[in-house]
Amino acid sequence: MSALIENVTCKFCGCLCDDITIEVEGDRILKAKRACPNGRGMFLNYDSTYRKPLVDGQVVGWDEAVSATVDILNEADSPLIYGLSSTSTEAQRKVVELADRLGAIIDSTSSVCHFPTSLAVQTVGEATCTLGEVKDRADLLIFWGCNPLVSHIRHFSRYSANAKGMLTPNGRKDRTVVVVDVRPTQTAKTADRFLQIEPGSDYEVLTSLRVLVQGKNIEHGVGGLSSEQLQELAHMMKTCRYGVAFFGMGLTMTPGRNYNVAELFTLCAELNRYNRFSVVPMRGHGNVAGADQVLTWLSGYPTAVSFARGYPQFGPGEFTTVDILSRGEADAALIVASDPVAHLPWMAAKNLERIPTILMTPTTNCSSKVAKVILPTACYGIDAPGTSYRMDNVPLRLRAVFPNTRPTDEEILSRIIKAVQQC
Ligand code: SF4
Repeated sequence: MSALIENVTCKFCGCLCDDITIEVEGDRILKAKRACPNGRGMFLNYDSTYRKPLVDGQVVGWDEAVSATVDILNEADSPLIYGLSSTSTEAQRKVVELADRLGAIIDSTSSVCHFPTSLAVQTVGEATCTLGEVKDRADLLIFWGCNPLVSHIRHFSRYSANAKGMLTPNGRKDRTVVVVDVRPTQTAKTADRFLQIEPGSDYEVLTSLRVLVQGKNIEHGVGGLSSEQLQELAHMMKTCRYGVAFFGMGLTMTPGRNYNVAELFTLCAELNRYNRFSVVPMRGHGNVAGADQVLTWLSGYPTAVSFARGYPQFGPGEFTTVDILSRGEADAALIVASDPVAHLPWMAAKNLERIPTILMTPTTNCSSKVAKVILPTACYGIDAPGTSYRMDNVPLRLRAVFPNTRPTDEEILSRIIKAVQQC
């Protein structure tokens, strides 16, 4: 006999769609109504049989697995804690507490996606808004270096291009969509204007737009765009009612990085002299925005934080995971709710094999192959409730669709914190 659970939040990506209806039968998920293919894959691939901790490939009890974890962390001189982007905010608080207790380096997956965004916020600030405002008010949407029709599939229908809101009752007909990217994408095909720029020219194009918005003239093309294209975009930005620029890793992880983002932030802030204009980063993992929030509340910095000296130190390039692992500076690693072996550069991922690695995750992944200890904790939003931050930094509640039969990250981290030695 199946049962329906309504208003479930999908935590696969930063959209955090909270209108999903899940059909369950026993310990299986049969359907995830309204979820996009990415979200459906997460729900339908839920594996209720993945629940046995492993140490050196051998099945052990939870006490033994926690004890092995504590031994590794106690023996390490320079432990690294990495991940955080797919766990709950409650667990993220515990991770920071553990890092503080151990004198560890802590870094989230932000360091390989939107870290330049955090650096730009620190430099020039961010004129931003919620996705609710986008839905209700925005008549100009710019997608820069991102492809939401592939990465955030319901973004258009729930919040942006196609959504019908208070001042946009006709949805797509009430909005102009511009895509700026280095190549044609699926999102570009649906845009009113697609501006194909040369790779690595984002900073120059953004600076040129600032010049034009300030009323000065540019007679030549920049970054593969003609002066007419630049002037038209600047005019659209100045004359719309409410503009929003969304941007992705095509801006943050290309040459210029935080300078690109700071230039976009400055452009959007300056446009507020003429109308309302906001900027929103397209955050990937379901709670990567929460990782930035929690680390900032508790340490003052969004990621790449070392507690080795007994107080938090911020070190982009020094305490970022890729750099720490590539230089071989960590002698143990605790990975929470992420898969660095699948996503980090080869040199960094390879070094995880050399050191004792503990993996705390609700599913098997590529990092399971190198982990000495595997802790198969509950999946927030499926078999445990929790809190997650949407890409616009609005916290939402994740409902459990099954009773909790596995310990959560928060519970296991609390046990580890009690058992490890204070550094
Ligand atoms: S857009 Fe993102 S949050 Fe929404 S259903 Fe798809 S994967 Fe889940």
